[in-house]
Amino acid sequence: MGATIITVDEFDYFVFGATGDLAKKKLLPALYHRFIDGQIPSAARIIGCARSPLDTEGFRALVTQALSDNASGPIAPASLSAFLALLVYQTIDVGNPSDWHQLVTIVNQTRDDRITVFYLSVGPSLFEPIVKGLKEHGLNHTSRLVLEKPLGFDLASATHLNNLLRESFDESRIYRIDHYLGKETVQNLMALRFANILFEPLWNAHYIDHVQITAAETLGVEGRGGYYDRSGALRDMVQNHLLQLLCLSAMEPPASFDADSVRDEKLKVLQSLEPLTDQRALDNSVRGQYREGDGMASYLSDIDKEHSQSESYVALRANINNWRWAGTPFYLRTGKRLRAKMMEISLVFRKTPHFIFNHVAAPIQPNALVIRLQPDEGIDIEITTKQPGHGGMRLHNTVLETAEAPHKANRPAPDAYQRLLLDVVRGDQTLFMRGDEVEAAWSWIDPIIAAWRDADYPPEIYAPASEGPRGAVGLMSKEGRVWREIQ
Ligand code: NAP
Repeated sequence: MGATIITVDEFDYFVFGATGDLAKKKLLPALYHRFIDGQIPSAARIIGCARSPLDTEGFRALVTQALSDNASGPIAPASLSAFLALLVYQTIDVGNPSDWHQLVTIVNQTRDDRITVFYLSVGPSLFEPIVKGLKEHGLNHTSRLVLEKPLGFDLASATHLNNLLRESFDESRIYRIDHYLGKETVQNLMALRFANILFEPLWNAHYIDHVQITAAETLGVEGRGGYYDRSGALRDMVQNHLLQLLCLSAMEPPASFDADSVRDEKLKVLQSLEPLTDQRALDNSVRGQYREGDGMASYLSDIDKEHSQSESYVALRANINNWRWAGTPFYLRTGKRLRAKMMEISLVFRKTPHFIFNHVAAPIQPNALVIRLQPDEGIDIEITTKQPGHGGMRLHNTVLETAEAPHKANRPAPDAYQRLLLDVVRGDQTLFMRGDEVEAAWSWIDPIIAAWRDADYPPEIYAPASEGPRGAVGLMSKEGRVWREIQ
C-alpha cells in the first residue's frame, strides 16, 4: 500500500534556470507528478525564470515538450492542461538590475504569508547575483532558497558561499540539495537502521569487516567536459554524494527524526573521518582516467584536450575514528565509463569465528547487507544456507530481498526530486545538507587534492567498460579484501 497523499499548502515556486537541462529533465516533471497525484493545490504557482525571451504560453509549450520527453507514463490531456495553468514565465537576466522589478511584481500578486521558494537551477556563478538580488528587493525575509551542486570548489569557496547565503537567509530556510538523499532506498536505509532492533547490535566494527560504497557509470563526461575537467570525480561525486551515503551508513542513531538531530549526527561522522594528508592520501587513494576502446572515445577526446591530470575515477579508503567504527575501513569508489551502471552501499560482515563446514567445496562468501540504489532500488541480505535436496550438507550463498524493492512490486521508485521539491514546501530540511556539513566534507577532501597536486600524482589509465584502474584492486587486496563486482 502506498503512503497517504496529503496536499501541501499553496505556494509560489520560482525556478531560476527554468529553460535549462535540470529543470526540463527533473524539476518540472517532478512537480507535474506531484500535481497529478493530488499533492499540489491548483492555486499554487510555478514561475519559470530565465533569460530566454518567452511569454507564459511559450513556457507552457516548452514544459509540454519537457514532460513528453521526461515524465514517466502517459500524459492525460486534462491533467496536462490543469498543470500548465499553474505556470507563469518571467524573462530575467539576473545580472540586470532593471529585470528584477517584474519579479517583485509577481511575488506581490499573492498574500504575504504564502510559501515562496526560490530554486536556483543555474550555474554556480549566478548564485551570488541571485542571492544579492533577492536581498536587495526584500524577497529574502520569509522565502526559502534551494541550491544545487556544486556547492563550492574547495573549503574556501564553500565557506564564501555559505557566508553569502547566511547574510540573506537564515540557515533554517536554506535547502542544499543532494538528490541522492531523496532516493527511496536511502530513506529506507534510515528506516532499516532506526526502526528495527535487528541490525543495530551488528552495526559496528565488531561485526562489520568493511563497507564499500560504489557509484559506477557507463557514460563518459557527455558534453559536460569543461565543467568536469575542472572538477574531477573526487569533487563531483565524493565530496557530496558518496560522503552523504557514508554519513547515513555510519552515523549514530539521532535522538529524533528532525532535521537538526539527523544533521548533527552526520556532521559528527564527517568530523571523525581520519584526515588523508600527504603520503597517507597517496597510499589510500587511486585516481584513474578512461582511455579509448570498444568504439568509445578517451577522456581526453571527450574533453577535447591533449593533456589533463583530472580523474574520471577515484577510489579511497577512509577510516572513521570513533568507537563504533575504529578498525572497519570504508572504501569509496566512483567512475565514468565503467562496466555497468551500479550504485550501492555494501556492509560486508566478518567471517564466523569458527567454521564447522570444512568439507564444503564451494567458497562461502561473508554475509553482506547491500543497499542498492541503482539499477534496481532495494535492500538485499546475502547469507549462507543449505542447498535444498538430499545430497548431504551442501551450502550455498543466498540473497534475501526485501519485499519493499520497488521493481519487485512493479512500481517504479519515485524520482528523488519529487520528494525533495515538496519537502521544501513542507519546510522539512531533514534530507538537505546543512552548511557546516558541506564545509566539513570539503575539509576532508581538500588535503587529498593537495597531496595529489604536490606529488604530481597522475591518474592511472583504465580501459572503458572495465572495473576501473588496477591500482584500485591493489587498494583492497593489500588488506586481503576484494571489491564487489560492478554488474
Ligand atoms: P543549463 O542547462 O546550462 O541551464 C542554465 C539555466 O540558467 C538556463 O535556464 C539559462 O537560461 C539560465 N541562465 C543563464 N544565465 C542566466 C542569467 N544571467 N539570468 C537568468 N538566467 C540565466 O544548466 P543545468 O544543467 O540545468 O544545471 C543547472 C544547475 O544544476 C547547475 O549548477 C548544475 O551544476 C546543477 N545540476 C545539474 C544537473 C543536470 O542533470 N543537469 C544535475 C545536478 C546538478 P537561458 O538559457 O534562457 O538563458
